[in-house]
Amino acid sequence: MSVTNEYDLDCATCGSALTKREVAAKALGFTAPGEVEIAECSECGGRYFPDATLRRLST
Ligand SMILES: [Zn+2]
Repeated sequence: MSVTNEYDLDCATCGSALTKREVAAKALGFTAPGEVEIAECSECGGRYFPDATLRRLST
């Protein structure tokens, strides 16, 4: 059984590798304080939210 996470995936739009980034939650339109981790495509700018980030933002 292998362990994978969002950062190992390729961009669903252009197929490029995703890069882990920390951005302010407020910059994403959430009211949660501090920064959250997202996976961002360096080619097209597509953003993907890891499950842990979604859980944090939903609380
Ligand atoms: Zn992309």
